[in-house]
Amino acid sequence: MRLSQMLFVTLREDPAEAEIPSHKLLLRAGYIRRVGSGLYAYLPLMWRVLQKISQIVREELNATGAQECLLTQLQPSELWKESGRWDTYTKAEGIMFALTDRQNREVGLGPTHEEVITAIARDMIRSYRQLPLNLYQIQTKFRDEIRPRFGLMRGREFIMKDAYSFHVDEASLKQTYQDMHEAYTRILKRCGLAFRAVDADSGAIGGSGSQEFMVLAAAGEDEVLYTEDGKYAANVEKATSLPTDAEPSTFTKYEKLSTPGTATIATLCDFLKCSATQIVKNVLYQATYDNGMTVLVLVNIRGDQDVNEVKLQNELVRQAGQYGGKALLALTVPDAEAQQKWATKPLPLGYISPGLSDSYIQSDSQTSKSFAPKFLRLADPTVVELQNFVTGSDESGYHVVGANWGKEFELPKIVVDLRKATVGDRALHDPSQTLQTARGIEIGHIFQLGTKYSKAMNATFTNEQGEELPLVMGCYGIGVSRLAQSAVEQSYDKDGIIFPVAIAPYQAIVVIPDISKADQVAAAEKLYTELNQAGVETLLDDRSERAGVKFKDAELVGIPFRVVTGRSLQQGKVEVVKRANRESQEMAIESVVPTLKQWIAEALSS
Ligand code: ATP
Ligand code: MG
Repeated sequence: MRLSQMLFVTLREDPAEAEIPSHKLLLRAGYIRRVGSGLYAYLPLMWRVLQKISQIVREELNATGAQECLLTQLQPSELWKESGRWDTYTKAEGIMFALTDRQNREVGLGPTHEEVITAIARDMIRSYRQLPLNLYQIQTKFRDEIRPRFGLMRGREFIMKDAYSFHVDEASLKQTYQDMHEAYTRILKRCGLAFRAVDADSGAIGGSGSQEFMVLAAAGEDEVLYTEDGKYAANVEKATSLPTDAEPSTFTKYEKLSTPGTATIATLCDFLKCSATQIVKNVLYQATYDNGMTVLVLVNIRGDQDVNEVKLQNELVRQAGQYGGKALLALTVPDAEAQQKWATKPLPLGYISPGLSDSYIQSDSQTSKSFAPKFLRLADPTVVELQNFVTGSDESGYHVVGANWGKEFELPKIVVDLRKATVGDRALHDPSQTLQTARGIEIGHIFQLGTKYSKAMNATFTNEQGEELPLVMGCYGIGVSRLAQSAVEQSYDKDGIIFPVAIAPYQAIVVIPDISKADQVAAAEKLYTELNQAGVETLLDDRSERAGVKFKDAELVGIPFRVVTGRSLQQGKVEVVKRANRESQEMAIESVVPTLKQWIAEALSS
C-alpha cells in the first residue's frame, strides 16, 4: 500500500481525550477515531491488526476442534427472561442496550451470547453422540458501560471472540476448559504479550471455576495478587489469603467507654491505644433484589480488614431465595437519604454494634412489603476468634471494650469469607509466601458454567443409558479489540508504537527520503514490489513530505522494519532499521528481501 493513496493522518500532539499511552498513540498514529462515547472507528491500519489477531485466535481455536459460527446480535428478550438475566442486564447492571421493535417486542443488543447459543443447543443437540461440541464466533458486542474509557480498552461497542462448549459431564467440560486454557496461552504468546492466568470471580455469568488472562500493565483496571513462587495468582475480587494475626486484647473487663469523635477505626485506635485487630467493625449495606425486596445487611469484620464487595454480592445472591428474589439489582452503603426510607430513628453511624436492634427497621405494613424486617447479619471469619474485643455500643460517642461472642453479642449464624485480600497478606498454600500486587488488563476469561443455563432454559440431551440430562457447559471470551490496544500498552517508546511482528498492520515500510530523486524512487518502487511479492507486507512512503516527517511517522506507527533508499544507493545499499531496538545497518539491495523474510520468520516462530 502506498501512503500517498491511504487515509493516513497522524497527529503531532497528544489528543486531549486520551489518558493512557496506548490510547494516545493509537489516536495519534491514525489507527482509531472516536465517533462517540465508547465508540471508535477502526481505521484501515487498525482493521489489519484486528484481522491478524482474529486469525491467530481462529488458528488456535480451530486446532482444538472448535468450530466458527456467527450468531445474531439482536437477541429476543424472551431468551433472557428464560435464563433470568433480563432484569440483571437491563436494570441492575444496566449493561445491555435494550430496545422495542415496531411490533412492540423487546430485544437486546448482544453483550454476550449464552442465551442464544443455549437456545440453539436445546433445539439441535439430542444425544450424547453429538458431544462434546465447542462453537465460537468473532463479533461486535455491545455493552452500555458505566464508564467507557481508555479507547478500545473499555468501549461500548467492541470485538469479542466468544466460545461456548457443551458436554455430557464435568469431566468432559474440564478437558475442554484445559484445552482452551492452553489455546489462550498460545494466542497471547503468539501476539507477543506478557500475561498471567489468574483465578477469577464468575460474576453475573455464574458457574463454578473461572480464570482470567491478564496482560500486565500499569494502566490495567484490575488488581492481581500473586506469590513469587508462581503457585498463586488471583484477581483481587476473588483472592483469598491468611490475614495477619490479631493482637491479643488489652481489655479484660466488659465496659462501655465514652469515645468522642471516634467514628473511624483510625481515630478509635488512637483514642483507645489499641490495635485495629482487636476491633469488630460493623458495616451496613443495603441490598435490593429483582422482586423489589430491600434487605439491610450488617457485616461484622475485623477492624483492620475491608469488605470485598464482590464476595458480599455473591453471598447476597446465594441468600436471594430466602427473600423471594433471584438476582441482586443493587448493593449500596445507604446514605442519609436512603436511611430515611426505612430507619425508625437516626442510626448510630460509626458506633454501630453487632447487636444493632432490628427495631431500627420500620415495620409498618406500608414499608414491610418492600423492606425485610430484620438485618441480614453476616460475619467474616476474622471476627470469630476475637476475645475481649472492642466494638460499637449503638450510641453515638461510645464504644464497648472487653466484649465477647456468646456473652454480650451473638455471633451471626452465617460466617462467610467476605474479606478483601491485600498485598502483604500471607498466602494460604504457603504462609511463608506473601501476596504481591500487579495491575492487569483482562484480555480473556474462561468459565466452567456447568448447568446454570441449560437447566434454566431446559437444554437437555439423552445419555448412553437413555436418561435425559441437562447439558454441561463452558464459555470462553477474548476481547480482540482490547487485546490490540493492550499490545500497544505493553510495547511503545517515546517516539511511538512498537508493534509485535505477528500483529503489526504491515511488516515493513520502504521510505523514500526525497521523491524528487529518481534513483531513490526507482530503488524504492522495486523493493516495494519485490517485498510484497515475497509475502512481506510492505508499505511505501511515497508522499511529498520531508524525510524527517516520514521517519517520525514510521516510528509512530510502529512498523517493525524500515527500509530507506537514501544516500548509500551509490554503493548499491539501503539503510534498514529495526523499530524495536532502532538497530540500523547498511545492507546490499539484493539482501533486503531474503533478510527481512528471515527476520520475520524468526519473529513469528519465537
Ligand atoms: P470487565 O471485567 O473488564 O468489564 P468482563 O468480565 O465483563 O470484563 P467478559 O464478559 O468476561 O468481560 O468478556 C470477555 C472479554 O471481553 C473480556 O475478558 C475483555 O477482554 C473483553 N471486554 C469486556 N468488556 C469490554 C469492553 N467494554 N471493551 C472492550 N473489551 C471488553
Ligand atoms: Mg470477565
